[in-house]
Amino acid sequence: MEDSKVLVTGATGFIAGHCVEELMTHGYAVRGTVRDLATADVAHLRAIAERTGGSLELVEARLDADEGWADAVDGCAYVWHLASPNPPGAPEDEDELIRPAVDGALRVLRAAAGAGVRRVVLTSSIDAIMHGRDRAERRVRTEADWSDADHAPPYAKSKTHAERAAWDFVRDLPLELVTVNPGLVLGPLPRPQRTTSVEVIRQLLAREMPAVPRLGFAVTDVRDIATAHRLAMEIPEAAGNRYICAGEPMWLGEIAAVLAAEFGPRGYRVPTRPLPYWLMWLIARYDRTVRLGLSYFGVMASVSADKARRELGWTTRPARESIVATAESLLGHGIVARRGNDARARSPQAEPSA
Ligand code: NDP
Repeated sequence: MEDSKVLVTGATGFIAGHCVEELMTHGYAVRGTVRDLATADVAHLRAIAERTGGSLELVEARLDADEGWADAVDGCAYVWHLASPNPPGAPEDEDELIRPAVDGALRVLRAAAGAGVRRVVLTSSIDAIMHGRDRAERRVRTEADWSDADHAPPYAKSKTHAERAAWDFVRDLPLELVTVNPGLVLGPLPRPQRTTSVEVIRQLLAREMPAVPRLGFAVTDVRDIATAHRLAMEIPEAAGNRYICAGEPMWLGEIAAVLAAEFGPRGYRVPTRPLPYWLMWLIARYDRTVRLGLSYFGVMASVSADKARRELGWTTRPARESIVATAESLLGHGIVARRGNDARARSPQAEPSA
């Protein structure tokens, strides 16, 4: 086994791209899993390997099949299990999320235990911590809290069941498990990708949202989440612990205000007016994504990351920086069209002649 080799599952993902970079810049060799080697967009991962001089292998494995996992973990000292369905809207059937999340986590853990992997860092979520009947209670949640899956939306259910299954699985095994439980992850996109967590920023910047619903988020930067995974892997005492890795609680209105202040003068009409609940409820009757947002309306994501700061020495950058970096990245990748002065400054006519 190579002490420095780490398996990253779901290597094409938003957070995984930064995890690969974090590992390679710290001297680890990376093996990543993708669903289909023939079609996976991995040019950005190869570019990271080239830039950092890191070693990158890619292999195929799917959360819904046993094939490939034994080979994927073979020779790895550590596994970062990030792959899990994270779609933008509510699925037709919640099992579309729950089954791959739970069965996939168990497949990864089973393979890791069989191959003598030392530690698995599993990317869970604050959604496994703060959902349920008492969600509206105004108290700060900690790692001692668990979502009540019977009263949680499908994604939160999938994360809660998967994390619980993982802890149950390792209970009597020498395999070490640590979970990183992020809040809303924002920051630069490693490739042009419309991933779910940056969707709110995309919709605000593109003014696809006419007004701003009262949704509360614990904003976290993707680069800080990658660092949290490394600390959770490297610090011996972290074994057996959950770590909330979430930053400042913010209402979506406050996020919109940051965007409006930064991008308004550049020609972007970021909405800042509040969207009342009754109107959101009405839109939710025909829009699945909005329907999903209803269960989050009016409740702040109040969680404490004190344990991660204290035990892992985890630090975070200001939320404003992550919000602006997300928007710049959406513009840079062409996911949101440039407007006003921004578009004019970048039009071919505006380029200085050679
Ligand atoms: P992405 O959607 O960008 O990445 C998810 C990854 O999982 C992709 O690589 C995807 O592969 C893979 N995947 C999904 N379903 C399957 C499957 N059936 N078989 C194999 N691979 C699969 O999401 P994020 O980077 O945002 O999320 C990564 C992890 O972090 C997830 O576990 C998520 O729940 C968790 N998390 C994310 C938060 C956020 O705000 N972003 C907050 C809290 C937790 P493919 O590219 O082929 O679709």
